[in-house]
Amino acid sequence: MNILVQKFGGTSVSTPERREMAVSKVIKAVENGFSVVVVVSAMGRNGDPYATDTLINMAKSINEDMSKRELDLLMTCGEIISSVIFAATLSSKGYKAKVFTGGQAGIITDDNFGNAEIIKVEPTRLLESLSEGIIPIVAGFQGMTREGDVTTLGRGGSDTTAALLGEALKASAVEIYTDVDGIMTADPRIVSKAHILKKISYNEVFQFAEQGAKVVHPRAVEIAMRGNIPLVIKNTLSDSPGTIITQYNEAYDNIYDIDKLVTGIANMDNRVQISIENGENTEGIFEKIADHKISIDLINIFPEKQVFTISAADFDKLKRIFEENNIKYSCRTNCSKVSIIGNRIRGVPGVMARIIKVLSKHNIEIYQTADSHNTISCLVSQDKAEEAVRVLHDEFKLEEIE
Ligand code: ADP
Ligand code: ASP
Ligand code: MG
Repeated sequence: MNILVQKFGGTSVSTPERREMAVSKVIKAVENGFSVVVVVSAMGRNGDPYATDTLINMAKSINEDMSKRELDLLMTCGEIISSVIFAATLSSKGYKAKVFTGGQAGIITDDNFGNAEIIKVEPTRLLESLSEGIIPIVAGFQGMTREGDVTTLGRGGSDTTAALLGEALKASAVEIYTDVDGIMTADPRIVSKAHILKKISYNEVFQFAEQGAKVVHPRAVEIAMRGNIPLVIKNTLSDSPGTIITQYNEAYDNIYDIDKLVTGIANMDNRVQISIENGENTEGIFEKIADHKISIDLINIFPEKQVFTISAADFDKLKRIFEENNIKYSCRTNCSKVSIIGNRIRGVPGVMARIIKVLSKHNIEIYQTADSHNTISCLVSQDKAEEAVRVLHDEFKLEEIE
């Protein structure tokens, strides 16, 4: 069996017209001989009746401290509704379709509600359907514990579902359909001349995703890489070939010029910078922060202070930990982390100098920097972040990358 997993994001299934276009992609793949497994997200974005944020806001408007188990149960309904409507559209065209929740599709997780870890994937029922010529439509973003509780896989987690099923079913490819033509050198909502990347390595796209480009979930990239399944990012609303994500490939072999070292720029808003002056008793504090599942980033230890960043969503939790441990700190809210990404930037002199020069030329103050194998990140004020992305995109001449 030549299996193809096709995942349709929220905007791809938000209206009857868009669902028609999505369904036509499925039909085309079936006509081309593929056994297709469909994964869908909840329909639309915040404000649309069954979108994930709408459901969250509905519950939280009643109780801000809503239990995570019940919130997961509520959130998964968005994807379930969407799958049934997708199946209805497909069967109205004469194709047999059968809907599965994540648990029914065989995705078993732990009970870390809101961001569950995968224990195993047993897609027996999906294979049964495929062998009967029935198209399985799987509700994305969800799994089930061994006890039968419903869980979610973290925001944007329908991509994860698609990659997990692609790996478990040894699919020929996983296609992620969204509202842009593929992975671009920057978010096209910020940089209008952002350029499509026809091919990109798992590693680089993982960095893109980790640094805030939400076009694909980092976990999905990791899983596809582990299973060596090609991931293809495509537009539901066009016939463009999209971006193919595979192992490091020859796409970059001709790039030796420092001007072409950078593949793209990403930014992550809603960061808070925390500084703890020396003299505070911080023994064991980082373990406590980790125990509360707060992830910290951009960590710099200076002789006189320790500085790091967290997501604004974790700030209240962190404040409580600091209060309980009697630690004084200062903070800078409304920050954004702007990162340049490129497999070849490591060890190349002058890249950081160019970033600092161009940002200061545009009066964009840098609060902190960090670099790793293939990223360089700068923390800036959130209201300057988009401008920072644009000037860096220009500086590294990204519109010219093929
Ligand atoms: P979906 O609902 O299909 O999962 P998402 O909103 O999660 O869609 O992701 C698609 C969005 O990702 C695009 O609309 C685009 O604004 C954004 N995006 C951010 N960075 C990039 C990038 N480098 N390339 C393409 N899209 C990007
Ligand atoms: N609907 C979920 C979310 O908004 C999952 C997804 O769209 O991938 O996070
Ligand atoms: Mg998404």
